[in-house]
Amino acid sequence: MEDKYTTREHTAFAHKFTRHAIASILGAIFSMGLCIAAGVNDLNVWSAFFAVIMVGCAIYALGYLRYRLMHVHCPECNTLCETYNDKTIRQWIANCHRCNIRWKLGVGSKSTSNIN
Ligand SMILES: [Zn+2]
Repeated sequence: MEDKYTTREHTAFAHKFTRHAIASILGAIFSMGLCIAAGVNDLNVWSAFFAVIMVGCAIYALGYLRYRLMHVHCPECNTLCETYNDKTIRQWIANCHRCNIRWKLGVGSKSTSNIN
């Protein structure tokens, strides 16, 4: 079976995705700290408040980022790509069927690029 796809880097996606991921993880850690601090000081209302924010950040991280991964638009033609996790290179890939481009999203478990 011939492979007509060209592989290109979708750099804009990785930048945006990483920013959102870091922001939501930091938000979750920060609010968890505040939640514990408020709990220790018997400020139960604040503790509950920060617990809600923490859960919100966690849901955002899992839900929104997952949604972003599944709804990648081709930078060339703006078509919705088919996204999947390529286990061999341990990275998320978005295929554009119109341009025949395989976009490497630069997201996934960090792989050393020189494994041969
Ligand atoms: Zn395209």
